[in-house]
Amino acid sequence: MALDIAIRGGTVYDGSDRPPVAIDVGIAGGRIVAMGEVAAKAEHEIDAAGLAVAPGFIDIHSHSDYTLLVDPRAVSAIAQGVTTEVIGNCGFGCAPIGDPKLAASAIYGFDDSIKLTWRGIGAYLDRLAAARPAVNVMTLVPNGQLRLAAVGLADRPAAPGEVARMRDLLREGLSEGAVGYSIGLEYPAEVGCAEDELVALARESGRAGGFYATHTRNRAAGAAAAVEEAIRTARAAEVRLQVSHLMPRSGDAESRRCLDAVEAARARGQDIAFDMHTRLYGTTMLSTLLPPWSLVDGVAGLRAHLAASASRARIRSFTSIIASVGDWEKVVLLDVPGMPDVSRLSLAEIGRRRGRDPHDCALDILAEAGDGLHRPMVILNVMSEATQKLAFGHPLCVPGSDATTLAPDGPLAGSVFHGAYTWAAWFWRAAVREWRLLKPEEAVNRLTGRPAAILGLTDRGAIAVGAHADVAVFDPREFGERGTTFEPNQLARGMRHVIVNGALTLGDGAPTGTRAGAIIKRHGPALAF
Ligand SMILES: [Zn+2]
Repeated sequence: MALDIAIRGGTVYDGSDRPPVAIDVGIAGGRIVAMGEVAAKAEHEIDAAGLAVAPGFIDIHSHSDYTLLVDPRAVSAIAQGVTTEVIGNCGFGCAPIGDPKLAASAIYGFDDSIKLTWRGIGAYLDRLAAARPAVNVMTLVPNGQLRLAAVGLADRPAAPGEVARMRDLLREGLSEGAVGYSIGLEYPAEVGCAEDELVALARESGRAGGFYATHTRNRAAGAAAAVEEAIRTARAAEVRLQVSHLMPRSGDAESRRCLDAVEAARARGQDIAFDMHTRLYGTTMLSTLLPPWSLVDGVAGLRAHLAASASRARIRSFTSIIASVGDWEKVVLLDVPGMPDVSRLSLAEIGRRRGRDPHDCALDILAEAGDGLHRPMVILNVMSEATQKLAFGHPLCVPGSDATTLAPDGPLAGSVFHGAYTWAAWFWRAAVREWRLLKPEEAVNRLTGRPAAILGLTDRGAIAVGAHADVAVFDPREFGERGTTFEPNQLARGMRHVIVNGALTLGDGAPTGTRAGAIIKRHGPALAF
C-alpha cells in the first residue's frame, strides 16, 4: 500500500491512558491505515526517534469563532499540536445572529473586518468552511446570542414567547450540526437568565444528543452555589453537563467546594465533567463592568450615563465579574491600544496615579475607548498553583485554552488572548514535567481521548487504524510554552510535526501553509463519559 506519510520509530501514545508503544504509524487518504512495523514507503517520511507521537490535541474550550475567519491558519494552536477546537463556549459565538450590532458584544475578538452577513449556525459554519481553517472545528450554540436575538440586553428573565424563540433558534442550530449548548451567566447579555429558562433550553440540547457547557452564574465568593445551580439545571433538563473552567476566583477553599459539588453529583450518577484553563489568572473584558442597560444607546449613551452622577452610581453598583474580585490591586489592564499610560497597570495603581477611585478610573477608560469599548482586557490575579493542581490532577478535568487562535504575523499579530499560545504547552510542561501530576499517557488522554469522548467523536482523539489522521509529533522533554503574561504572543516550543486530516500542517517545527481542517457536525448521540 502506498502511504502519504509514515511516522517511524516514535513513542506512540494512542489517546487512551495506556502506556506508549514504540511502533510506526502509516497515513493514507486522511486516515491512519497502518500501525506496527510499517514496511511500505511513504511520500513523506518522518523520523520520530526520541519523539512522542500522539493524537492531535482537542481544545474543548475555545473562543476562536471569529478569529478563525480573520486568520484561519490558527498558528498559535497548530504550534501546540492542536488539531480540533470546540467554539461557541461561555455563551459567546458568531451565530445565531439577530441584530448584528448587538451580536458583536458576544463575539470574542470581533473587529468588524469580517461583517456578520450570516444569521444561523448552518450559514456561519458554511462561511467558516469557506475560510478553510487549519484546525477542525466543532461548535456549541451560544446562549448569549440566543438572548440577544430574543430578549436583547434586558436584564430580566425571558418571557414565555422569548423562551420559545430561543428554543427555536437552539433547535435550528443543533439540527445544523452544533454539538451542544453553552451559557455564560456572568456576562451582561445573560445575567437575567432564570433557572427554569435554562432548563427549558438545556433540555433541547440533551434531546438532540448534545451536552450543556456552563460558565456558571457566579465564579467569585459563593461560586459553589452556582455550580450547584448548574448541576440542578442539568439534572432537571436530563442533559450531560460540562462545567466550564470549574475553579472560581475566590480561593482554594471555594475551589474545593466546587469540586466537592461535582464529585457528589457524579456519585449520584449524573453525567458530569469539567474543564479548566491554564492561567493563574482570569481574563475578561473591562466592559463587563457595565450593566446591559448602560449600553442600550451605544457609546454616546454610555458617556451620558457616566456623566450623570445618579446613573454613574447605578453603574458602579452593578455586580460584575471584575468588581466581584473585591481588590483593584488584583485587576491588571493588558496593553490597551492607544492608551500606553494605563497598560500593564493595576486599576489600583491607575487610581493612585490619577488621584481617583479605581472603579471610576475603569469606567473613564471605557468611555475613552469609545467604539473600541470591548477591546480593553484585564487579568484578574485570583488563582493559586494549589488550585490548578487540584483541578488538573482530577480525573474529570480536561484542559482547554479558553482563548482564541492567534498568529504572530498577519491580521491578528497585534491581538492578545492569554492561553492562545500557551495552554497545551503549559499543561504538558507543568502537569507532566514540573509537577509530575500526570504520567505522559494520562496527559495525552486528557488532551485527546477524553475530550473526544465528551464530544462523541469516535474517529478522532485516537491513534488507531481507521481514525482520522490528526497527529502531533513532539519532543516530550522540550514541549512547553514561551509566552508570558505581558509578552504572550510567542509560539510554543517542542512541537515538531502536526498532521490534520492526513495533511502535514507543521513540518520540522514550521508551518507548511496547508489548511486541511474540517467542520465537524454532530452525528449521532455522544458517548457517555
Ligand atoms: Zn467562560
